[in-house]
Amino acid sequence: MKQKIIILGGGVAGISAAFYALKSGFDLTLVEANSSLGGRINSRIDSKTNDSIDNGQHLLVGAYSVFLDILKNIKTYDKLKIQNSFFVKYLDSNSTFNLEEKYFKGQVGLLFGLLLLNKFTFNEKISAINFILKIKLNLFAKNKEKLIDVLKKNNQSNELIRILWEPMCLATLNTPINIADTSIFANVLRQSFFAGGFASKLILSKIGLSELISPFEKYLIENGVRLLKNHSVKEFEINDKKITKVKLTKNIELEADYFISCLPYNRLNKLIENDIELDSSPIISAYLWFDEVFFEDEFVAVLDKNIQWIFNKRKFGFNEGEKEFPQFLSIVISDASKLIELGNEEILNIILKEIDELFPVKKNLLHHKIIKEKNATFLADLNNQKKRENIISPFDNLLIAGDWTDLTLPSTIESAARSGKLAIDKIS
Ligand SMILES: Cc1cc2nc3c(=O)[nH]c(=O)nc-3n(C[C@H](O)[C@H](O)[C@H](O)COP(=O)(O)OP(=O)(O)OC[C@H]3O[C@@H](n4cnc5c(N)ncnc54)[C@H](O)[C@@H]3O)c2cc1C
Repeated sequence: MKQKIIILGGGVAGISAAFYALKSGFDLTLVEANSSLGGRINSRIDSKTNDSIDNGQHLLVGAYSVFLDILKNIKTYDKLKIQNSFFVKYLDSNSTFNLEEKYFKGQVGLLFGLLLLNKFTFNEKISAINFILKIKLNLFAKNKEKLIDVLKKNNQSNELIRILWEPMCLATLNTPINIADTSIFANVLRQSFFAGGFASKLILSKIGLSELISPFEKYLIENGVRLLKNHSVKEFEINDKKITKVKLTKNIELEADYFISCLPYNRLNKLIENDIELDSSPIISAYLWFDEVFFEDEFVAVLDKNIQWIFNKRKFGFNEGEKEFPQFLSIVISDASKLIELGNEEILNIILKEIDELFPVKKNLLHHKIIKEKNATFLADLNNQKKRENIISPFDNLLIAGDWTDLTLPSTIESAARSGKLAIDKIS
């Protein structure tokens, strides 16, 4: 008899748990409240332009091995654009510069790239390289201090913090540098940008995020999985420290040997009377369509503005509306707590003012979409980190997964994917 598993929640963590549960030969049911899988990675077609827009631009790195493996199996891996070598162009107030691998591939090349940057003094470069070496040696794994304090203790100048560390902190942790947790920051950099090789490569999707993962539904059904979309988990039935049943909407009740929660923490709280309340951090995304092409790069990082990244969607194969809407940009504002309560028009005006400052050429905005994700990620600060240490399942046959469960990583696609795999590993 195959053991029965019910996976609750079909975001990336649930997808990954289902993928590995199938590999381990479990009898599997996946329950998802929405009409499609994906959770916080999803996309839709904009009706005016026919272009696909995501709930927020997602940037992946080669270190996302668990998630990338799933894409290989559902045959959408070739829909990713993978950089040949690490390259990021920065727009500073009066200049542009590139952080890139120079002369050599991998980490040696990146160190040369840093040494050759004329943005820093020689002493600053040496301090930065020293700090990178400490990260690589995993010296911050147990650190319980704020990132900003650790950077200062390690002689990182204001310019190094402004140009190098702050943009990296926002991009990886979606958390302000003055409260960010050092151990998570150091760990994520150690595993990605400073790991060298494939792990440090930047990756973007050439199709909408929903399209990227939608073949997974077919994969599940072909492999005999019961997929219950549009069904929400309501409560557990408990007997002697074990969950015996899960009750869903539409009067469905299911029994199983194991229940894998891949739900957001606030949803799980209601089911098991947990009191883990994490602070979250918002992200604002703006999709802008212009009549003139004034931005030719694939993407850029922006310093000292609300806008932190600009992605040129036409360069990634998003070409549906190109004829009528030549320039199609996606803008990212992470750690957007200062702007999130403003109205969409106010946010649009702030973004357009900054776009005009960066690109002072004649252009007309033809269409726009602002997407606010209030609870985009959890805040990777010391407070939340402490609370996350208390995540313990109260039931022997309940495993808890989700991007918020891995203490060593921030809220990312890969931390979600790894947590799903880990839950299945524990019972296989
Ligand atoms: C705007 C934005 C930008 C981001 N940028 C990046 C990035 O660049 N790189 C990166 O790696 N990560 C990024 N992230 C983070 C990443 O998307 C998440 O960490 C990851 O998708 C979380 O997956 P998850 O499965 O843990 O949670 P979720 O995706 O939240 O999945 C939970 C699932 O449970 C379902 N559910 C909820 N309640 C119930 C219920 N009662 N019954 C049944 N199902 C239920 C939900 O519908 C959902 O599908 C970003 C997130 C956002 C929002």
